[in-house]
Amino acid sequence: MPEIVSALNGLADLWLGSDHPVQVSPLDDQLQIVLRHLDPKAPRSYFNQREWLPVIVVNTPGDVYAYGDPYEDLRASLGNIFTTPLGELLSGPRFDASARAAETRMAANCLNCEYFGACSGAAIASNRDNVHTEVDGIGVCDVDRAVLRHIEDRLRSSGVLDGDGRVATSPAPAADPVA
Ligand code: SF4
Repeated sequence: MPEIVSALNGLADLWLGSDHPVQVSPLDDQLQIVLRHLDPKAPRSYFNQREWLPVIVVNTPGDVYAYGDPYEDLRASLGNIFTTPLGELLSGPRFDASARAAETRMAANCLNCEYFGACSGAAIASNRDNVHTEVDGIGVCDVDRAVLRHIEDRLRSSGVLDGDGRVATSPAPAADPVA
Protein backbone atom coordinates (compact mmCIF):
# COMPACT_ATOMS: atom_id res chain seq x y z
CA MET A 1 0.00 0.00 0.00
CA PRO A 2 1.44 3.42 -0.89
CA GLU A 3 2.46 5.41 2.19
CA ILE A 4 0.10 8.21 1.18
CA VAL A 5 -2.90 5.87 1.58
CA SER A 6 -2.14 5.14 5.24
CA ALA A 7 -1.53 8.85 5.81
CA LEU A 8 -4.85 9.84 4.20
CA ASN A 9 -6.75 7.06 5.97
CA GLY A 10 -5.34 8.13 9.33
CA LEU A 11 -6.20 11.73 8.58
CA ALA A 12 -9.73 10.69 7.51
CA ASP A 13 -10.22 8.92 10.86
CA LEU A 14 -9.23 12.06 12.75
CA TRP A 15 -11.27 14.28 10.44
CA LEU A 16 -14.46 12.21 10.60
CA GLY A 17 -14.11 11.94 14.37
CA SER A 18 -13.60 15.66 14.89
CA ASP A 19 -16.33 17.77 16.50
CA HIS A 20 -15.07 20.78 14.56
CA PRO A 21 -13.77 19.50 11.20
CA VAL A 22 -12.16 21.99 8.85
CA GLN A 23 -12.21 21.60 5.08
CA VAL A 24 -9.42 19.19 4.11
CA SER A 25 -8.61 18.50 0.48
CA PRO A 26 -8.78 15.85 -0.96
CA LEU A 27 -10.77 14.23 1.87
CA ASP A 28 -13.75 16.57 1.40
CA ASP A 29 -13.96 15.61 -2.28
CA GLN A 30 -13.55 11.93 -1.44
CA LEU A 31 -16.31 12.09 1.17
CA GLN A 32 -18.63 13.63 -1.42
CA ILE A 33 -17.82 10.78 -3.82
CA VAL A 34 -18.65 8.20 -1.15
CA LEU A 35 -21.94 9.97 -0.36
CA ARG A 36 -22.90 9.89 -4.04
CA HIS A 37 -21.83 6.23 -4.22
CA LEU A 38 -24.15 5.41 -1.32
CA ASP A 39 -27.09 7.23 -2.94
CA PRO A 40 -28.40 5.44 -6.04
CA LYS A 41 -30.36 8.57 -6.97
CA ALA A 42 -27.31 10.83 -7.00
CA PRO A 43 -26.23 11.99 -10.47
CA ARG A 44 -23.33 10.15 -12.11
CA SER A 45 -20.53 11.84 -14.04
CA TYR A 46 -17.75 10.51 -16.23
CA PHE A 47 -14.52 12.31 -17.00
CA ASN A 48 -13.81 12.87 -20.69
CA GLN A 49 -10.64 14.76 -21.55
CA ARG A 50 -11.91 15.32 -25.09
CA GLU A 51 -14.87 17.30 -23.74
CA TRP A 52 -13.29 19.10 -20.81
CA LEU A 53 -9.67 19.50 -19.79
CA PRO A 54 -9.87 21.40 -16.51
CA VAL A 55 -6.16 22.18 -16.17
CA ILE A 56 -3.26 22.60 -18.54
CA VAL A 57 0.33 23.12 -17.45
CA VAL A 58 2.53 25.62 -19.32
CA ASN A 59 6.24 25.79 -18.51
CA THR A 60 8.44 28.85 -18.94
CA PRO A 61 9.47 28.07 -22.57
CA GLY A 62 5.75 27.74 -23.40
CA ASP A 63 5.44 23.95 -23.67
CA VAL A 64 1.86 22.90 -22.89
CA TYR A 65 0.86 19.70 -21.09
CA ALA A 66 -2.44 18.13 -20.13
CA TYR A 67 -2.53 18.01 -16.34
CA GLY A 68 -2.08 14.26 -16.05
CA ASP A 69 0.85 14.06 -18.45
CA PRO A 70 4.55 13.99 -17.48
CA TYR A 71 5.54 17.63 -17.89
CA GLU A 72 9.22 16.81 -17.52
CA ASP A 73 9.03 14.84 -20.78
CA LEU A 74 8.90 17.06 -23.87
CA ARG A 75 7.54 14.13 -25.90
CA ALA A 76 4.32 14.38 -23.85
CA SER A 77 3.85 18.08 -24.62
CA LEU A 78 0.80 19.09 -26.64
CA GLY A 79 2.98 21.69 -28.36
CA ASN A 80 4.16 25.21 -27.67
CA ILE A 81 1.77 28.03 -26.80
CA PHE A 82 4.10 30.65 -28.35
CA THR A 83 4.09 29.02 -31.76
CA THR A 84 0.78 27.15 -31.98
CA PRO A 85 -2.78 28.41 -31.35
CA LEU A 86 -4.43 26.87 -28.30
CA GLY A 87 -7.22 25.44 -30.45
CA GLU A 88 -4.67 23.42 -32.43
CA LEU A 89 -2.91 22.26 -29.27
CA LEU A 90 -6.21 20.92 -27.96
CA SER A 91 -7.18 19.09 -31.14
CA GLY A 92 -3.96 17.81 -32.68
CA PRO A 93 -2.44 14.32 -32.72
CA ARG A 94 -0.53 14.91 -29.49
CA PHE A 95 -3.76 15.84 -27.71
CA ASP A 96 -5.38 12.74 -29.17
CA ALA A 97 -2.54 10.58 -27.81
CA SER A 98 -2.86 12.21 -24.39
CA ALA A 99 -6.64 11.65 -24.33
CA ARG A 100 -6.21 8.04 -25.44
CA ALA A 101 -3.73 7.42 -22.61
CA ALA A 102 -6.22 8.87 -20.10
CA GLU A 103 -8.98 6.71 -21.57
CA THR A 104 -6.74 3.65 -21.31
CA ARG A 105 -6.07 4.35 -17.63
CA MET A 106 -9.80 4.78 -16.99
CA ALA A 107 -10.70 1.61 -18.91
CA ALA A 108 -8.13 -0.43 -17.00
CA ASN A 109 -9.18 0.91 -13.60
CA CYS A 110 -12.61 2.48 -13.50
CA LEU A 111 -14.71 -0.03 -15.42
CA ASN A 112 -14.21 -2.52 -12.57
CA CYS A 113 -14.50 0.03 -9.79
CA GLU A 114 -17.59 0.23 -7.60
CA TYR A 115 -17.17 4.00 -7.29
CA PHE A 116 -17.21 4.74 -11.03
CA GLY A 117 -19.93 7.26 -11.78
CA ALA A 118 -19.89 8.63 -8.25
CA CYS A 119 -16.19 9.19 -8.99
CA SER A 120 -15.79 10.53 -12.51
CA GLY A 121 -12.48 8.72 -13.09
CA ALA A 122 -10.55 11.99 -13.15
CA ALA A 123 -8.43 10.75 -10.26
CA ILE A 124 -6.70 8.22 -12.51
CA ALA A 125 -7.26 9.97 -15.84
CA SER A 126 -5.54 13.20 -14.95
CA ASN A 127 -3.84 13.11 -11.57
CA ARG A 128 -0.34 11.67 -11.60
CA ASP A 129 -0.11 11.97 -7.83
CA ASN A 130 -2.54 9.06 -7.68
CA VAL A 131 -0.28 6.67 -9.57
CA HIS A 132 2.30 4.77 -7.53
CA THR A 133 2.06 1.44 -9.33
CA GLU A 134 2.00 0.46 -12.99
CA VAL A 135 0.88 -2.81 -14.53
CA ASP A 136 1.89 -3.38 -18.16
CA GLY A 137 2.79 0.30 -18.35
CA ILE A 138 -0.65 1.49 -17.20
CA GLY A 139 -1.10 3.42 -13.96
CA VAL A 140 -3.09 1.75 -11.18
CA CYS A 141 -5.57 3.75 -9.08
CA ASP A 142 -4.08 2.68 -5.79
CA VAL A 143 -4.70 5.83 -3.74
CA ASP A 144 -8.19 7.23 -4.32
CA ARG A 145 -9.94 3.87 -4.50
CA ALA A 146 -8.37 2.71 -1.23
CA VAL A 147 -9.19 5.95 0.57
CA LEU A 148 -12.78 5.89 -0.74
CA ARG A 149 -13.17 2.35 0.61
CA HIS A 150 -11.73 3.40 3.94
CA ILE A 151 -14.13 6.35 4.25
CA GLU A 152 -17.08 4.15 3.27
CA ASP A 153 -16.08 1.49 5.82
CA ARG A 154 -15.70 4.18 8.43
CA LEU A 155 -19.19 5.55 7.71
CA ARG A 156 -20.70 2.07 7.77
CA SER A 157 -19.10 1.17 11.09
CA SER A 158 -19.99 4.49 12.71
CA GLY A 159 -23.73 3.93 12.52
CA VAL A 160 -24.50 7.19 10.70
CA LEU A 161 -26.06 5.42 7.71
CA ASP A 162 -29.77 4.69 7.54
CA GLY A 163 -31.33 1.39 6.51
CA ASP A 164 -30.73 2.21 2.83
CA GLY A 165 -27.05 2.80 3.45
CA ARG A 166 -27.34 6.57 3.13
CA VAL A 167 -26.33 9.31 5.52
CA ALA A 168 -29.79 10.47 6.58
CA THR A 169 -28.93 14.11 7.18
CA SER A 170 -26.58 14.67 4.23
CA PRO A 171 -27.98 14.64 0.69
CA ALA A 172 -25.44 13.49 -1.86
CA PRO A 173 -23.70 16.38 -3.64
CA ALA A 174 -24.74 16.77 -7.26
CA ALA A 175 -21.40 17.37 -8.93
CA ASP A 176 -18.13 15.50 -8.96
CA PRO A 177 -15.69 17.96 -7.38
CA VAL A 178 -12.68 16.58 -9.27
CA ALA A 179 -14.27 16.26 -12.72
S1 SF4 B 1 -11.63 5.50 -7.53
FE1 SF4 B 1 -10.05 5.29 -9.14
S2 SF4 B 1 -10.63 3.42 -10.26
FE2 SF4 B 1 -12.42 4.08 -9.08
S3 SF4 B 1 -13.64 5.34 -10.50
FE3 SF4 B 1 -12.30 6.72 -9.30
S4 SF4 B 1 -10.47 6.99 -10.56
FE4 SF4 B 1 -11.54 5.19 -11.33
